[in-house]
Amino acid sequence: MSLNRANVRIEERRGFFGALKEVRLWFARDREFTLNRETWEQVSRAEEPVPVGLDGARRLWAADGDYWWADDALDAEAVALLAWDRERRQDARLDRLRKIRAAEEEVERGRRERLPDEVRAAVWHRDDGRCVRCGAEQELQFDHVIPFSRGGSNAVENIQILCGPCNRTKGDSII
Ligand SMILES: [Zn+2]
Repeated sequence: MSLNRANVRIEERRGFFGALKEVRLWFARDREFTLNRETWEQVSRAEEPVPVGLDGARRLWAADGDYWWADDALDAEAVALLAWDRERRQDARLDRLRKIRAAEEEVERGRRERLPDEVRAAVWHRDDGRCVRCGAEQELQFDHVIPFSRGGSNAVENIQILCGPCNRTKGDSII
């Protein structure tokens, strides 16, 4: 039971005075289905999937402006269901991607944002200007206790002073 989106090139054939004669649906370089005007109108208007033509064991369906290849055994209802399911899953996937991107942009914004001076001053004062782990006074860095990428903020409570070596060790030990 398979349904695949079909790539179809549509070519209208017009007669005298531009009246539509027939429509060709090219699905490969030299393969086409030719629809007369009545069938084409039916295909364009139908809300339910309309069978367009058979190519070996697969049938081309038109549904809501999209074209699908389906096993010959599938009927219109099955095609409609499978197309609906596919779009629903695609929507869910896009939704998920949007959320992931928004979260990553948020993290990126946080990284770029400079730690406010008053936060630096408060943390420096609280930690006595030295590494909170080993007491070193050189190569000091402001460190996010909970990293930005995990939702940590720039609040004083989430910032601490670490020396470079301790910061690197912390980076290794965080799961
Ligand atoms: Zn240290």
